[in-house]
Amino acid sequence: MARPQKMVIVGAGPVGSLAALYAAQRGYRVEVYELRPDLRDPRIVPLNFTKSINLALSERGINAIRHAGLPDLLEDILGACVPMRGRMIHGKKPSGALYEVAQDFDIHGRVSFRHRLSDVGLIHHRQPVHPANKSNPQCNLAMDRGALNARLLDALEDLPNVELFFNHKLTGADFRKRKAWIEDRDRLSPSGRPREMEIDFDIMLGADGAHSAVRYHMMKFSRMDYQQEYIDTLWCEFRIDAGKPQPDGSETWKISPNHLHIWPGKDFMFIAIPSEDGSFTCTLFLPANHFVTLEADPSQVPDFFDVNFPGVRDHISDASLIDAFNTNPHLPLISLKCKPYHFGASGVIIGDAAHAMVPFYGQGMNTGMEDVRILFSILDKHQALLAETNSPLDDEDDEQQSSSNAAAEQAHAQALAEYSATRWVDAYTINDLAFQNYIEMRTSQSTTYKLRKALEEFLSLRLPGLGWRTKYSLVVFSNRPYSECVRQTDRQGRVLSRLFAGLVTSPFLAVGVYLAYSYRRPMKELWHNAVAIWQMM
Ligand code: FAD
Repeated sequence: MARPQKMVIVGAGPVGSLAALYAAQRGYRVEVYELRPDLRDPRIVPLNFTKSINLALSERGINAIRHAGLPDLLEDILGACVPMRGRMIHGKKPSGALYEVAQDFDIHGRVSFRHRLSDVGLIHHRQPVHPANKSNPQCNLAMDRGALNARLLDALEDLPNVELFFNHKLTGADFRKRKAWIEDRDRLSPSGRPREMEIDFDIMLGADGAHSAVRYHMMKFSRMDYQQEYIDTLWCEFRIDAGKPQPDGSETWKISPNHLHIWPGKDFMFIAIPSEDGSFTCTLFLPANHFVTLEADPSQVPDFFDVNFPGVRDHISDASLIDAFNTNPHLPLISLKCKPYHFGASGVIIGDAAHAMVPFYGQGMNTGMEDVRILFSILDKHQALLAETNSPLDDEDDEQQSSSNAAAEQAHAQALAEYSATRWVDAYTINDLAFQNYIEMRTSQSTTYKLRKALEEFLSLRLPGLGWRTKYSLVVFSNRPYSECVRQTDRQGRVLSRLFAGLVTSPFLAVGVYLAYSYRRPMKELWHNAVAIWQMM
């Protein structure tokens, strides 16, 4: 047997952990290096996040976990999610009455419904919507990012060919020599600095987030195009506490737990995502200058909410609003694109390291997990081609070992090149869509938005034979390449425009045809006279 290849994975976030599972199941010797301490330690506060964030896990992420080949893991993760069947838009009418409007993500589930806040200001219970049940509407699944990550790490720990190193920071990498340098923060030198160690690898996978060290070092070896942008919006976390528990002790939610709640503003937005324990993790997205104004006088925060996010004060006390604003960090949002993602046969970046995006399509982590599925399917393909052309190898034979290494290297090089060449198109597409959705979510009250949505939904629902699907449903509930989703919806858009143009021009056409028919005799005479005059000239 050939010696197994060593895959070093940098970053044990959701994407790195899932990649380690895929690699381990393919027989690689896997080492995972993670800068932070083990997040499963309850004393640890995640970097950048106050507690943790709730994420929307959707089809692409679920599908990637499904392909990890651990059905129990998938079941366990799905069991810890709260299904969100749609958006709940909150607002205030000119009369001052509060309202909320539900828009289902999956219009084939149940028709959207509308109700006044007074009808629903009671206790809410979670609807038993299980994503595995096909008869239920398609949902986004709310999941605590830390809890998801912890489950992936637990699964990794059970595998004999995986070693996890927490508190280990990648500080350098040479992709030609296949060596990397790691700071071990648990072992200090006599001078008090973390000890540095040198490791080697056959292939390194960089899943170390938006500020990726792997990407930084890879850029010294590959001609990588790179662009990044900070948007002028910061985010800060808030929380709606659980409602009073039921007599049997089970949780209750103050607002519907099966919706992604949105309080849209022109330049800003407040959202709430349900948690299993009955609470909601809320995020305020606000331009930086508004943060500066409120930071100068945080006592203004409740009034600011009152004006811009009507009804939120019914669920979060003024003291909690001010406390969360003062205590929780005000964090930036970065969007980055780069390509190629690899160098030769020795390194590749995935997840946020390759394509961090603004979070407004809820696809950042889902795309990162899809990277894992696609990358390993391409690796599998090239390994299979390799196996077809090579015979099994002997353990002891050095010559055969080195020829096996060369063949594995060739397969890696071809696979990474194919991955880079194909994946960037979809990564760039979802990056752009996330930006567009930011605008859409903030203006989700506009008449054009509602009209377009209604028309698309009507066509999708009433004429299913046309294969008409909304962009959101293709992006979030399918595994079609993002670029294909956009191509299909662009095509649909062109058909819609023609339909509109036809509807607008058809009355004029009808009047024209009617006049021509009614006055056909005088028109004919006129035409003959005109021809005769023309011939006499
Ligand atoms: P990360 O989660 O950033 O993990 C990278 C890991 O690498 C970290 O653990 C870090 O400690 C480690 N690391 C960094 N540097 C080093 C180093 N030098 N050496 C060793 N280790 C290192 N996505 C969704 O799909 N749905 C959502 O609803 C959603 N909502 C979001 C809401 C907000 C407010 C934000 C900010 C993001 C949201 N996202 C969402 C995006 C999602 O959080 C990211 O896309 C996802 O976490 C990326 O995972 P990752 O593993 O690639 O990177």
